[in-house]
Amino acid sequence: MSKKVVLITGGGRGIGREICMEFASENTHIALTYTRDARSAEQVRQTLEDSNVTCSVHKLDVQDFHMCQSVVETVEREYGTINILVNNAGVTLSKQFVNCDEAENKAVLSTNLQGVMNMTLATVPSLKKSTSNDEPGRIVNISSNTSLCGNAGQVAYSVTKAGVNGFTRLCARTLASHNIFVNAVAPGYIDTDMTQDLPESAYSHVLQVSAIKRTGCVKDVSSIVRLLCGDNCHYMTGQVLHIDGGKFC
Ligand code: NDP
Repeated sequence: MSKKVVLITGGGRGIGREICMEFASENTHIALTYTRDARSAEQVRQTLEDSNVTCSVHKLDVQDFHMCQSVVETVEREYGTINILVNNAGVTLSKQFVNCDEAENKAVLSTNLQGVMNMTLATVPSLKKSTSNDEPGRIVNISSNTSLCGNAGQVAYSVTKAGVNGFTRLCARTLASHNIFVNAVAPGYIDTDMTQDLPESAYSHVLQVSAIKRTGCVKDVSSIVRLLCGDNCHYMTGQVLHIDGGKFC
């Protein structure tokens, strides 16, 4: 059986890194991207290659569509057409909306929402070429639990993730005829660099409002991403799965 080609944006750290590790135990070539932290991305590549997984690392700013296209072309040349795209790259902005300036909002919107659209648009031609009847193409978008109830201290961020949910549903409808399945996961509070600087109150709030009284770990998310890309997932598309310990807003 030929190896699947998996492209993961922001695969050098946090949730993206764990998604790389998750796919490493399958028959895959992994292409991961970073934007600033080349060192962490290189460490992931080394770890994967030590386990005999072929892996390439690409510098990418998802805000730049031409860069997205160029990464896809390079991955295709290296490994062949792409089977799975995980749109994981994202940034947060934790500030009251009235205190945010235009540039800050714009950066969050163009990374988290435009970036997902850019990468999807750039990768779909490759996904179309790779699909067959029993092997659908897959896109998994990393949304957030804030897309559902919003978070008053993260307005731009919550809006982008609500946009990702809408985009996921519409893409699923558009791409189903090409045998490409599109789903999203919406994590709650996951322990990564992104949540490290949040105040103690954010952490205690999570414990108060979730059924499972703990924060999530990267594996809680990566295992569901893998499930959504697995051979048993053949009749589910356009869905947003919440991985938030049963958070009731
Ligand atoms: P991290 O901050 O640990 O990682 C973010 C990743 O995104 C990094 O690899 C970073 O690259 C990459 N990135 C940032 N900006 C860009 C850009 N413009 N172009 C390309 N890549 C970029 O965050 P997490 O692992 O926590 O977050 C991963 C995803 O999960 C995000 O979409 C986030 O919104 C979402 N999420 C996270 C939650 C959490 O509680 N942690 C909860 C809900 C959703 P580099 O390494 O080079 O800096």
